Amino acid sequence: SVTVVGSLNEDVLVSVDRLPGRGETVVARDSALAPGGKGANQAAAAGVLGGGVHMVGRVGDDPAGDRQLAALASSRVNVSRVLRTIGTPTGTATIPVEAGSGENLIVVVPGANAELAPEDVDVPSVRSARVLLLQLEVPLPAVEAAARAASGTVVLTPAPPAPLPAALLQRVDVLVPNEHELALLADAEPGDRSPAELVQLARRVTTGAVVVTLGARGALVVPAEGPALLQAPPPVAAVDTTGAGDCFCGALGQALAGGAVLADAVRQAVAAAAASTTGPGARGALPDEETVRDLLPR
Ligand code: ADP
Repeated sequence: SVTVVGSLNEDVLVSVDRLPGRGETVVARDSALAPGGKGANQAAAAGVLGGGVHMVGRVGDDPAGDRQLAALASSRVNVSRVLRTIGTPTGTATIPVEAGSGENLIVVVPGANAELAPEDVDVPSVRSARVLLLQLEVPLPAVEAAARAASGTVVLTPAPPAPLPAALLQRVDVLVPNEHELALLADAEPGDRSPAELVQLARRVTTGAVVVTLGARGALVVPAEGPALLQAPPPVAAVDTTGAGDCFCGALGQALAGGAVLADAVRQAVAAAAASTTGPGARGALPDEETVRDLLPR
C-alpha cells in the first residue's frame, strides 16, 4: 500500500492571451477549476495505477474541499484520513496560463494545508504503509512526524524547495528533486549539469538514494551504493507537463510498494510521467497500469 501525506488544492486555471506584468490588469478568456496540490496529485497518480492508496491531509469544510475528496475517490484513493478544518478554506492555486506559449504563473494560498499538524499524521495508514510519499507543501513538523512514524520506504519530493533538517533526511530512503531543487539543496548555482555533476551534487546532499528528475531527458538514479543510471523516457507527444513530477512520484511509490527495486521502479515512473504529459493539466492524462506497460520496451 502507498500512503501520501501532503497538500490538496483547488487549481483555478485562467486562460490569458498574455501574462500580466506588475500592476497590470488583463482580461481572461475563461477559467476552469481542477483538482490539484502536489500531495493529492501524487495520490491520484498512484491510485489510477494500482489502487490501495491512502491520502492524509486537510481541506476546508467547503465545496472546494468536497470537490477534492470526490476527485481523489474517483482515482481510487482512500480519503478517510483527509481532515476538515472548520473556518479555514481549502487551499487554492491560481494559475494564469498564457494561451500561445503555455507559460504560467502560480499563486498558492495554503488554506487548510497550513493546519496539518503532527498529530494528524500519526495514523495506521502512515505507520504501516509499504511506501510513504512526502512533499513540502504542508508544514515541516507534519512532514517530520510522518517520516518518524513510518515503518516502510520513505520517498520525499523536496518541493517547494526548503532546507531539510538532518534528522528528516536520515529518515528518507529516496529523495526525488528536480535539477533546480537539487542545486538549491546542495547550495550550488542553478544551471545545466552533466549526469556526473548531478551525481556529485546528490552526494553532497545525502548518502541515501536520490532520483533526479530531468524533464524531457527522463531521470537519473543515484543509488545509495553502486553506479548511477540515466533512464530516458519513451517517445511521447508531450502537450502539457504540469504535474509530470507528481505523476512520477506516484508511480515510483506504487512500483516500490509492489516490490520493484529502485532502478525498475524509476523505469516505470519515467514511462508513467511521460504518458501523463500527453493530456491537459496535472491529472488530465494519468495512465493506468496497462498504458505504462505498453510504453515500456519488452
Ligand atoms: P517537475 O515537473 O517536478 O519540475 P520534471 O520536469 O523533471 O519535474 O518532470 C518529471 C518527470 O516527468 C521527468 O523525470 C520525466 O520522466 C517526465 N517528463 C517531464 N517532461 C517530459 C517530456 N517532455 N517528455 C517525456 N517525459 C517528461
